[in-house]
Amino acid sequence: MKKIGDLVLSTPGQKIVVLSALSGTTNALVSIGNHLEQNKQEAAEKEIVALETHYHGFIKELYASDAFHAIGQETVSRFFIFIRLLAAGQFDNKSYRELLAQGELISTELFYQHLQERKINSRLLPALHFMSIDENEEPELEKIEQRLKPLIASLKNVDIIITQGYICRNHQNEIDNLKRGGSDYTASLIGSAIRAEEIQIWTDIDGMHNNDPRIVKKTFPISELTFDEASELAYFGAKILHPSTIVPAQKRNVPVRLKNTMDEKAEGTIISNTGTEGTFKAVAAKDNITVINIKSSRMLMAYGFLRRVFEVFEQHKTPIDMISTSEVAVSLTIDGTDHLDSIVTELKKFGTIAVERNQTIICVVGHNIGNQQGILEKVFHALAAVPVRMVSCGGSNNNISIVIEPSFKEKALISLNENLFGIK
Ligand code: ASP
Ligand code: MG
Repeated sequence: MKKIGDLVLSTPGQKIVVLSALSGTTNALVSIGNHLEQNKQEAAEKEIVALETHYHGFIKELYASDAFHAIGQETVSRFFIFIRLLAAGQFDNKSYRELLAQGELISTELFYQHLQERKINSRLLPALHFMSIDENEEPELEKIEQRLKPLIASLKNVDIIITQGYICRNHQNEIDNLKRGGSDYTASLIGSAIRAEEIQIWTDIDGMHNNDPRIVKKTFPISELTFDEASELAYFGAKILHPSTIVPAQKRNVPVRLKNTMDEKAEGTIISNTGTEGTFKAVAAKDNITVINIKSSRMLMAYGFLRRVFEVFEQHKTPIDMISTSEVAVSLTIDGTDHLDSIVTELKKFGTIAVERNQTIICVVGHNIGNQQGILEKVFHALAAVPVRMVSCGGSNNNISIVIEPSFKEKALISLNENLFGIK
């Protein structure tokens, strides 16, 4: 937090700082919530105590003066009284979501007090006053903009405006959230709503890498990406960003810069609408994909067949990621399997269904790779020793997606690194 304080002051101009919870807090709250849902009060209380101790240790280091340390103690105690109140009550889904919101509510308050101690002209702006999602859990960008405008105008003379990432209100005005990792999304929604000069996401890695650093030893940060390329990467595996982060920024054409808190001098990645030349940008992998294959002679020369297939997925609110078809069969992949059984039951009306769970999508992203000669040859040369289950390309010019068995993932990523980026 001290470092973040330095960072936000290191450049001039007014800023809105969107904070996530402290590392580990949301995981702890999820676990406490799970215990409470299962009526395991004791286990929950044990974790509440551990978390509270963590926060008392944290504020001891954060504040320099006794006066502010006392304020911090009061804040932490107040939050934990509330968490225990939630735990003692009827613990339903609404309480669960309220519990999850406490991480961001406490981090922003502690940070605000830290800036107060440093006599920085700052203000806390509650995200629950302006962030909202509709009945389909989609953020309401226009409404957010309308609510933010007067709020920001009234804070014209404030240097640093602090708000919570992740949390929002849903269409019933209840406390809700933008799903795990959602603080990035909040930042991008706010930056887009106010048409900021730039949205910066500060994490602990120096930008998006050309390959998965957890699997491949030698990777490098990519300095520039287009919105389209970054969206594909954010969705397919590059864990650095919430997958929806790019959407509002692209809509309003606000550049997104990814920076590293641990190494602020590192260039990072800038995502904008001005793409750079150069062929391959990155490869990424997404695990736990389910492939569904529908084989039907009724598909032969029939029209309307795919529409009926897609309707099944629409009815079950299940997005399809990849598809590839032949004249008598269609393969598609889904990420969420909540409704898999009912989807399969309905699809059986159309033909023979085969389901393969736990597959991996390898995604190759690059500038115009969809229509350059020799690209597929390079990719498949790299994957010569990897059995390929499904391929999709041509949908976008920036992407080639390939489904493989997860046991071949490491081999595939390493070989693509060698063959497409020349890194041994
Ligand atoms: N604190 C939330 C989470 O852990 C949101 C975020 O970190 O972006 O998922
Ligand atoms: Mg996060």
